[in-house]
Amino acid sequence: MGSKCLTATVSQGAWPALVLNADFRPLSYYPLSVWSWQDAIKAVFLDRVNIVEYYERQVSSANFQMRLPSVVSLKTFIRPSRQPAFTRFNVFLRDRFTCQYCDAREDLTFDHVIPRSRGGQTTWENVVAACSPCNLRKGGMMPVDAHMLPRQRPFQPTVFDLHQNGRHFPPNYLHDSWVDYLYWDTELDP
Ligand SMILES: [Zn+2]
Repeated sequence: MGSKCLTATVSQGAWPALVLNADFRPLSYYPLSVWSWQDAIKAVFLDRVNIVEYYERQVSSANFQMRLPSVVSLKTFIRPSRQPAFTRFNVFLRDRFTCQYCDAREDLTFDHVIPRSRGGQTTWENVVAACSPCNLRKGGMMPVDAHMLPRQRPFQPTVFDLHQNGRHFPPNYLHDSWVDYLYWDTELDP
């Protein structure tokens, strides 16, 4: 569902480790906190993390042999950032992968509500998901002139906002061992 739109952050077979904070929640959801297996192992040796879950995959060298960690948790709690990063994925996620002018779900691009040529900024408050045809139709016009107003006024979402939408559009790579730590609160929902 919508997965072809997602920006791939992790490719399968790369053995990424999900990084949890010391409270066992992901360090960050948007983007999801993952490290390469090399960084994860380095953090293990630096004693910065505990290994929570493993992959089957092993690595070995002359001195050691170990299974690659699939989930690690920080030993020291880091205060999580309250604001999601301004990324293409997160803008799409806020807008539920839906054109904000016609509700299309295909061929999505980004539209500056106030065109850049009219001084519009590339910010949460001025960028929306739009399908190519709508984007072309609107061109460099102001919303009122084009008679095209976004379905919802673009806004800076909270992690909670994205979390609500995120359940419908999970990242395109989720190892089985991650799921318990990502959706631990799902059952609490009505
Ligand atoms: Zn459209």
